[in-house]
Amino acid sequence: MEKFKLHGRKYVEHLTGGSALHCNLEEHLSQAQYRNLLRVAAQEGTNYFTFNIPNTVCNTCGHIDKRYLKECPECGSTDLDYLTRIIGYLKRISNFSEPRQREAARRYYANQSKLGTAC
Ligand SMILES: [Zn+2]
Repeated sequence: MEKFKLHGRKYVEHLTGGSALHCNLEEHLSQAQYRNLLRVAAQEGTNYFTFNIPNTVCNTCGHIDKRYLKECPECGSTDLDYLTRIIGYLKRISNFSEPRQREAARRYYANQSKLGTAC
């Protein structure tokens, strides 16, 4: 919620270069939860944002899953890679530059319990 406020009209109106909120989530939310976040965005004037949930790619069988998994649901492999959003498109984290991979490892992905009762 704080990120939506920090990217809202109260702060962004003072920026000349714009602002983009990446709402990083461990898992997809329910329709009602997404609706609540959209309501918060409208109330705060957060007009440019995206929801970012890592997709899982199995390096063993090639299965791609829209969830953030620790094991492939098709073959059981744990040799996995993840797709995440970089400037509007999805890219394998293992193909990031070394500094970007270190930055990606520090990214915080909220889960439903961390989003509180507002969702
Ligand atoms: Zn697999």
